[in-house]
Amino acid sequence: PITSEKLIAWLQRVGQVLHEQREYLTQLDAAIGDADHGINMDRGFRAVVEKLPALASADSGTILKTVGTTLVSTVGGASGPLYGTAFLRAGIAMAGKQELQEADVVALLAAMVEGIQARGKARRGEKTMLDALLPALEAARKAESEELEMPQLLQVCSSAAEAGMKSTIPLLATKGRASYLGERSIGHQDPGATSSTLMLQALAETYR
Ligand code: ADP
Ligand code: MG
Ligand code: MG
Repeated sequence: PITSEKLIAWLQRVGQVLHEQREYLTQLDAAIGDADHGINMDRGFRAVVEKLPALASADSGTILKTVGTTLVSTVGGASGPLYGTAFLRAGIAMAGKQELQEADVVALLAAMVEGIQARGKARRGEKTMLDALLPALEAARKAESEELEMPQLLQVCSSAAEAGMKSTIPLLATKGRASYLGERSIGHQDPGATSSTLMLQALAETYR
């Protein structure tokens, strides 16, 4: 299972990875947006990491909700409310849980996707973070139904996100700032799909 300790270790790792990949995410956003995605995510998760020590004995739901409120108040842009809502919904779905089983991971990802869709109204294929998260959710569902253990489930989830992220390159953006570019958005990888993939890769890595 994913204990609160592991959940916190994951968020710490996400903070580290988003800091390391800040320039990369910003470059991706420079091509089809306003060159701030790396800055936004680094700022948000730096604030999240600062709150982790106080959450050491909290349940999973409380930890995830705190991530949500922190992202909403620090990130700004499109990704702040979207990731913020995603983590808030995940926190509500995981309320009171001390550790997460395979089925909980599926419910957590489903709650994140629902939050992002409720807020941003995007569907698959519109060149957004959902193009990484929806395939990850489907992979998690399939893995759970096949009774894969947690490390393998997270691995297939991470791989599906990565494939989804790459699939955004030929897509035409129809949501967010990238949609202002129209046809010129084609040929570039979506920054939000990339940050989502980095988060799920970091989750799989907590088992390595
Ligand atoms: P902003 O575009 O306000 O500068 P960011 O650069 O931080 O915000 O985030 C951009 C990312 O947000 C995009 O790459 C995309 O993945 C995601 N995004 C934008 N609009 C939507 C939406 N309606 N639904 C889902 N994701 C979206
Ligand atoms: Mg931007
Ligand atoms: Mg911006």
